[in-house]
Amino acid sequence: MSGAAVTVDAKGTALAPGLIDSHVHPVCGDWTPRQNQLGWIESCLHGGVTTMVSAGEVHTPGRPKDIVGLKAMAIFAQRAFQAFRPGGVKIYAGAPVLEQGMVEDDFRELAEAGVKFLGEVGLGSVKDGTTGRRMVAWARKYGIQSTIHTGGPSIPGSSLIDKDMVLETDADVIGHVNGGHTALPDDQVKELCERSPRALEIVHNGNERAGLLALRTAKELRQMHRVILGTDSPAGSGVQPLGILRMISMLSSLGEIPAEIAICLATGNTAKMRNLNCGLIAPGREASFVFLDTAQQSAGKNLLDSIQKGDLAGVGMVITDGAVSIQRSRNTPPATRVPEVVKR
Ligand SMILES: [Zn+2]
Repeated sequence: MSGAAVTVDAKGTALAPGLIDSHVHPVCGDWTPRQNQLGWIESCLHGGVTTMVSAGEVHTPGRPKDIVGLKAMAIFAQRAFQAFRPGGVKIYAGAPVLEQGMVEDDFRELAEAGVKFLGEVGLGSVKDGTTGRRMVAWARKYGIQSTIHTGGPSIPGSSLIDKDMVLETDADVIGHVNGGHTALPDDQVKELCERSPRALEIVHNGNERAGLLALRTAKELRQMHRVILGTDSPAGSGVQPLGILRMISMLSSLGEIPAEIAICLATGNTAKMRNLNCGLIAPGREASFVFLDTAQQSAGKNLLDSIQKGDLAGVGMVITDGAVSIQRSRNTPPATRVPEVVKR
């Protein structure tokens, strides 16, 4: 490209938009108390993820549950992660969890302060559809997008959110429609796909069989544009630096969808459903990319075939906002070919 400051020779590898993780739980910096691990976000960069959306900073030790406190924490997290990008990963954080007693003005104030997402409805004290629906509508009115925890309790003390509450609350994203960790019964998963028009988020931390059911149901309904991917990491079940790549290979191989469609779920689909300016390779979009190639010794005859056979892609380079963030990934299986920086 003429005028480019950096020139990369792709060496025949595939260029994809940087992957998006629609569901993470960051806390502070690049640290998570759930597994007491440092560097988990930068590790996900090595799995091709360039953008993350917080589903609530709920693992924060001593998380405030009073309304002034939860608003302060959300604004702090939004500011902190806007200023701090581990390895270049962009994190949309500052996702407050709904608590009883919040009023319309709280949502207006949060929106004015730059908060764009709610944490999972159901992780706080709001556990009924009527209150959830009222608060989600206030959030929507002020441009804040919402998501809801779907399925069994995630940790002791949290509770079941069934299809009735999900349908009544009508959040913009049906968070982990395949459970996080525990899925709803099959008929409820199908009903959510059929009766709600909202985004269907499938996560690595959920029930894989239920994830495949949601995928197949969306396919039958010809509503694949609603399917988006997340990890729900870190959640104590393993920080999953390759979680999105694993979802792509799992859904493509077992869900029998073309690999390129599976990649679209984690890029363009998620960007559209989440209103993000990334996820597509197009003028005016953020210049965040991942270079992929067939993992060495994969039985697949090319990259897409290797993914459809269930292997992970090898990451050879990641670019975030036009800058080379990493070259050969330390976490994926080694890519057969890797791009080269030819001019800096
Ligand atoms: Zn959840």
